Amino acid sequence: MVLPQFEENLKKYAQLLLKKGLSISEGHRLIITIPVEHAHFARLLTKEAYAYGAVEVVVDYTDEVITREKLLHAESDCIENVPQYIVDKSLHYLNKKTSRLVILSANPNAFAQVDSARLATLTKATAVALHEQRLATQANKISWTLGAASNPEWAAMVFPNLSSTEEQVDALWDAIFKMNRIYADDPIQAWNEHEEKLNQKAKILNDIQFDALHYTAPGTDLTLGLPKNHIWESAGSINAQGHKFIANMPTEEVFTAPDFRRAEGYVSSTKPLSYAGVVIEDMTFTFKDGQIVDVTAKKGEETIKRLVEENEGARALGEVALVAHKTPISLSGLTFFNTLFDENASNHLAIGSAYAHSVQGGVDMSQEELEEAGLNRSSTHVDFMIGSEFMDIDGITQDGQVIPIFRNGEWAI
Ligand code: ZN
Ligand code: ZN
Repeated sequence: MVLPQFEENLKKYAQLLLKKGLSISEGHRLIITIPVEHAHFARLLTKEAYAYGAVEVVVDYTDEVITREKLLHAESDCIENVPQYIVDKSLHYLNKKTSRLVILSANPNAFAQVDSARLATLTKATAVALHEQRLATQANKISWTLGAASNPEWAAMVFPNLSSTEEQVDALWDAIFKMNRIYADDPIQAWNEHEEKLNQKAKILNDIQFDALHYTAPGTDLTLGLPKNHIWESAGSINAQGHKFIANMPTEEVFTAPDFRRAEGYVSSTKPLSYAGVVIEDMTFTFKDGQIVDVTAKKGEETIKRLVEENEGARALGEVALVAHKTPISLSGLTFFNTLFDENASNHLAIGSAYAHSVQGGVDMSQEELEEAGLNRSSTHVDFMIGSEFMDIDGITQDGQVIPIFRNGEWAI
């Protein structure tokens, strides 16, 4: 590591994730999910969380190499069924309202050699086992946030032109710090100002209550209905205990749920999607009555088809997010092969479940009521990027008026 003041900046990043991301204070509990390679960062986060008054910090180490070996060699029962103790553990911490911090640091091609059917089976079994946890996080019952850490395989994909592994790893850490405003004099204050700007856009959209959005760009002509009483949200969320949190760091998006029954036309992806350890490129989705009736991709087509065809609710959309083209992430010109970053560089949509808080009263609705309100229910939620400097978006009001929201990839409202 040759990045100047790395340790100091890593500590600032840890503090930002805990304090701005999760509002960790007296009496809070925290689970950190983090790759085993980042034990140093895990220990730093743990120390800082206790320093803020946490009463319990649990670290769940993950290991892609071991997961890959399991996918390649373990007997099928281990792939198809998640042991009950994992479900029990998840419920134990859920009942204690434990906040969740997930540090992403995946090798985007970790599972490229793995049989995609086995991978889909394990992904689905895990999603089913952690169903309650997913419902709780999607309804903001608990606080959660996603952060990131650099690693050699990932850094090599983002910075293929740098000559040494060390330079690549450093460059990725540097990008993570920049995008999280760590180099600002006071990163937390910088985040407060950024949050305010996004909140203003959300407020305008909430006041207008558009009936539909119309997207046009090369390869895209899509109309998406919006549910009645939809709520556009940005950076900050509030959990059921009244604590503020920021689900994604960095975040540049203003988002809500589309009405999953009203999508017509076609839309093309503008960035690669790394899903389940496979990189998928140049996708085009065709919609009729809200359902994906066709999906093609120049790379990874089998994986995206499986996602759409084999998961309940994966033929419809659950999120629509607006992101200006000129954000720090987008201006970096980099492709991160990681949704946390790439989604914040670009307008995006998500296949799968909607967030319950995207409509008024949604967090208190049953699954049936959410569906009735137009919010897609699904065991999956996968973002894909559609924005570019060529994208225009119009809002269509209840009485058919057309108002520009985006022009040439930038906010116009
Ligand atoms: Zn999003
Ligand atoms: Zn999303």
